[in-house]
Amino acid sequence: MRHPYGWLAALAGSVLVAACGGNEAVLSDATSTQIQPVRTIIMVWDGFRPDSINAKDTPNLYALRQAGVNFSDNHATYPTFTMLNSSSFATGAFPKTSGFYGNTFWTPPQGPDNIIPQGNLATPNSAGTAAAAADYDDPIFTEDYQVLTTLNNYYGGQLLLVKTLFATAQAAGLTTAAIGKSGAAYLQDPGRGGYFLDENTVQPRSLVTELQNAGYALPANTQFGYSGADAVTLASANGDPTARAGYITFNTTAYDPKGTIAIAARDSADTTQGTPEDAANQYMMTVFTQYILPKKQPILSLIWFRTPDNTEHGYGPGSANALSSSRSQDQRLGELISALKANGMYDSTNLIIVSDHGHSSVSGPLALYPLRAITPSGTAPGGPLINGTTSGTDAAAIGAPSSNGYSFSGDVRSADLLTYRGFSAYDGAGCVTSAMYGLQADGTPTIPVQVDTTGALCGAPNTPYQAISASLAAPVASFKVPAPGSLPVNGIVIAANGGSDYFYVPGHDPAIIGNLVKFLQQREEYGAIFVDSRYGALPGTLSMSMVNLENAQRQNNGQPDVVASFTWDDQVSIQGMPGIEFESANNDHGMHGSFGATDVHNTLVASGPSFRANTVISDPTGNVDVAPTVAYLLGLTMPQADGRILNEALLKPASASAPTVKASIVTPSAPATGLSFELPADPTGNTKDAALTQGTYTIDMAIKDLSVDGKTYRYFDYAKAIRQ
Ligand SMILES: [Zn+2]
Repeated sequence: MRHPYGWLAALAGSVLVAACGGNEAVLSDATSTQIQPVRTIIMVWDGFRPDSINAKDTPNLYALRQAGVNFSDNHATYPTFTMLNSSSFATGAFPKTSGFYGNTFWTPPQGPDNIIPQGNLATPNSAGTAAAAADYDDPIFTEDYQVLTTLNNYYGGQLLLVKTLFATAQAAGLTTAAIGKSGAAYLQDPGRGGYFLDENTVQPRSLVTELQNAGYALPANTQFGYSGADAVTLASANGDPTARAGYITFNTTAYDPKGTIAIAARDSADTTQGTPEDAANQYMMTVFTQYILPKKQPILSLIWFRTPDNTEHGYGPGSANALSSSRSQDQRLGELISALKANGMYDSTNLIIVSDHGHSSVSGPLALYPLRAITPSGTAPGGPLINGTTSGTDAAAIGAPSSNGYSFSGDVRSADLLTYRGFSAYDGAGCVTSAMYGLQADGTPTIPVQVDTTGALCGAPNTPYQAISASLAAPVASFKVPAPGSLPVNGIVIAANGGSDYFYVPGHDPAIIGNLVKFLQQREEYGAIFVDSRYGALPGTLSMSMVNLENAQRQNNGQPDVVASFTWDDQVSIQGMPGIEFESANNDHGMHGSFGATDVHNTLVASGPSFRANTVISDPTGNVDVAPTVAYLLGLTMPQADGRILNEALLKPASASAPTVKASIVTPSAPATGLSFELPADPTGNTKDAALTQGTYTIDMAIKDLSVDGKTYRYFDYAKAIRQ
């Protein structure tokens, strides 16, 4: 018996429960050190909505929820991005404590001695050649272990300012393993103290050798993470086991007034692709269940797959492919459960299934932008059948307005809208096109497609783009962040993140902040607005400190100055799933990151020897509570965590005190007044909303304060703009 702790703890727990009747199984002198570590596996289903759990599509998770604990009011950390919630799982903390602001954030070049080193490669999954160095002058997308390593070095090893759950476990001599999605899995263990496998690498180096000797393929990019004496040579039959397919797309000229310029639209009506990353997830789960789990017997593991999130982004929540990806993810859970049983570990292992955030359909208001049919065709233009293979282009088309149809609206590019209105705004995204910029009821595109024939705007000739700022006297279409030293003193850098945008104002001019906030309040695409409290209480805004987003060590160095959620509506359904929102332009049918109820409320289910059976916990809980709870299951503590131990769910809780919960609405101290509101269908701002005549803007933020054992923990249900 090499790892007796889990077995002993399971036995001790069951005896104690039997003797004390379960609910009262608490000793008055209970301390966390009484508990021996119980093997715990956290499985993250990226973007999985709690209303997607059912016996038909997710039978394994449904059964686990029935058998164990269903946390029916769990909360993602706002902004509801993947990497930000990854940091909450890693540390049990909000950005005010962890200092982490992913997915995409910006840290201004600090001068010649303190510029982020650009030598580290980003590692997108393309076999054969290493990727180019990432550009840290622009906002940086952090779903990449090399990027995270570069940033960790830049921050002096303090990318996360507090000790992680994994480091806490490792310091106690416990074996850990993290596998799965690029970036999100790595952030659990940036100190590299445990076993690690993601879509791009394997760590430590000794595990590379072990896996190769055991006949396993490696992620193809593993070769780019090692050099010199540690260099990795892939076996000739290695292949690319973590490759994933693209989305099924079709070409549309709906955004070109001349009808000649095609852009790619993702085909939400497609029913055939399933999960583009199916093979990659199966590979990683196989390495975990067949090698890491039995050979290394980790006491703490985290498995994070990009499913169903990736499919929801491409096709939208509720689409046939998104449902298929839920079934795929549930099959991976089934494989994990089978492996635990085969290794005699199931009864002594806690399983925690959690999503990082919910997921919404991307759409503007349906009164402005009706849903549209997609007319299918199984035949690629001029080619063989493609629809039905793993990816490609078919000959579908955007059809007439249809209440059962799909959205072709919701994309917003803040840098473009701001530049058009006279701000100096940059997002670093270059020239882009998207089929989600909006087709109005009469078919008029909100932002038409044009072509930069000379390359003067986009850097390469014949590049298509959509940008209203291209019509200015000094036209702009790419919004590249100027090189260090060239950023205008009044410049604004935008980290576009999906359901919310970060705004950096490196000059910190209160007048620029005020004008930016007024612009955001007047445009109806933007919802609740949060401002760094150093700028004072601006009418109609809440401070970033109220939502745990101010961090003194990251001020001017990663922390944004203004955070704006895009407008959302949880009463509108597309493909049977409630919840729509605008997004930073990215041509997605699904998105998250907003302060909408649909994005905030996410999945949390737990089952195993430490958890109560057949229990629904309706108290508010949050992603920040997972790490301190797991630490407790391991006999450890995380004193720096913002979250709490979820004692209500435990057979042997650290405290038996009953929490009290008080719900309320928080509003700004004063509304903004004297505004005129601008309709999303006119990006110039000239068309005002005639229905809103008072000109006032404020925010309703719904919170729940849970008090227990002398401490109060705040959970955020939503924040929305109120325009009148
Ligand atoms: Zn995610």
